[in-house]
Amino acid sequence: MIAVDPFDLVIFGGTGDLAMRKLLPALFRRYAGGQVPNESRIVGVARSHDSAENYRGVVREAIKRAVANADAQTLENFLGLVHYYGLDATQDAGWREFADTIATSGERVRVFYLSTSPDLFVGICDRLRQYGLNGKDARVVIEKPIGHDLASATAINNAVGAAFAESQVFRIDHYLGKETVQNLLALRFGNVLFEPLWNAAHIDHVQITVAETVGLEKRATYYDTAGALRDMVQNHMLQLLCMVAMEAPASLDADAVRDEKLKVLRSLKGIDQNNAILFTVRGQYRAGATDGAPVRGYPEDLGKPTSQTETFVALKAEVGNWRWAGVPFYLRTGKRLPQRVSEIVVQFRSIPHSIFAPSAGPVMPNKLVLRLQPDEAVTLSLMIKSPGPGGLRLQEVPLDMSFAEAFGVAQPDAYERLLLDVVRGNLTLFMRRDEVEAAWRWIDPILAAWETNPEAPKAYTSGTWGPSAAVALIERDGRTWHEDAA
Ligand code: NAP
Repeated sequence: MIAVDPFDLVIFGGTGDLAMRKLLPALFRRYAGGQVPNESRIVGVARSHDSAENYRGVVREAIKRAVANADAQTLENFLGLVHYYGLDATQDAGWREFADTIATSGERVRVFYLSTSPDLFVGICDRLRQYGLNGKDARVVIEKPIGHDLASATAINNAVGAAFAESQVFRIDHYLGKETVQNLLALRFGNVLFEPLWNAAHIDHVQITVAETVGLEKRATYYDTAGALRDMVQNHMLQLLCMVAMEAPASLDADAVRDEKLKVLRSLKGIDQNNAILFTVRGQYRAGATDGAPVRGYPEDLGKPTSQTETFVALKAEVGNWRWAGVPFYLRTGKRLPQRVSEIVVQFRSIPHSIFAPSAGPVMPNKLVLRLQPDEAVTLSLMIKSPGPGGLRLQEVPLDMSFAEAFGVAQPDAYERLLLDVVRGNLTLFMRRDEVEAAWRWIDPILAAWETNPEAPKAYTSGTWGPSAAVALIERDGRTWHEDAA
């Protein structure tokens, strides 16, 4: 582990769900791993606590909940780094004192993590600039959602850009911090085996599934104005698609990687009112059962029977370039599905000719499955001879390529890696402004097509894989959703 120089990390929204469940536990793990120096400061900013002592108490409990067997002394030492600043980020009052307090640590890397509602991003960035907290060693991290369409995303990017240079802006997508996603880069570009096959001649199609068993939870107001397309597809799923589809970058430099991802986004064939009905399916969950318990439908969860917000999307995308011409990328995501799973399935083509007798059994096409959650794993399915006597029978076996267990390495949480990348100034796994805007440019016409189409999202029973139209979307092409997930 390479330690970094002492730094300040200021979390606006330091009392919120993300800070307590993800950011502070991730920082604790890196501290326990020896990467965060004792002279660093972690400053929670919010309105609701009155003292640092209270705040530390809440952080202590949050870390105990999130980190099994956290060493008590290490936790107390970590809490020594934790500070609290009570501030209403939308008001001028208190900012001068806040800026002076932050500046006391002198010249060092200073990260401002905006873990608040996106409505506050513009105001906070303005004030960081106004109070001189945007110097060359400052970095700002912004969470999704970055806008709800291209125009609002551009407005946020403009406001952030008025305070910070693009090299200081870290637009976080925690999916990119997952081991499996980095393993995809290692597999594709660290082996000679895959790249010659990574194209339309050898790949039949790609599936990306992000399935949740949960319903609305506490985010009802936000979710009902967003929906699954904005909440999942615009960011996480398009980023995963880019990682699969991009050309080999010249290096792992941030802009080399981001240039290639941008080209993919710009190559996506448009879906609009002319073809949305063919290429997209939207659904909304109804009462049913998930995780073994009965659950209510979306209209009851929301308390608003007229909502037209989609909680499920399936769509067929195509990357219009030489490498991918004619290869469908099927994406689906939804709430209240039977299983919590996020995975990418790269389905290779069938062999061109079989030499085997029918009694050998079917020759299944190879399949590379990259699972991001719940347990990160990479498997490649291969055909082998079924061992033993009795003639040549074929058998499909999964070759497990996730070696974390074999190496005895615990899978780090994505935020651990990404937070340290911010401190180091490594932008490779963060989205550049033009990527976010290109993704919206592709999404906006789908949203517009749905708005002009009076057909409501199709109802699906909680605990099923979405409306039957989602199955029809892929079966129409003679394909099926990957069976481990479906
Ligand atoms: P949250 O639980 O509602 O927390 C919001 C935080 O902002 C609280 O600490 C709140 O504290 C603070 N806050 C609100 N108004 C403020 C003001 N005027 N001045 C200073 N602080 C203020 O939200 P969250 O779930 O943590 O989400 C934070 C951000 O991350 C959002 O943009 C969300 O979309 C994004 N995100 C969250 C998750 C997740 O898993 N939670 C996942 C992906 C993205 P006080 O009320 O005490 O001021």
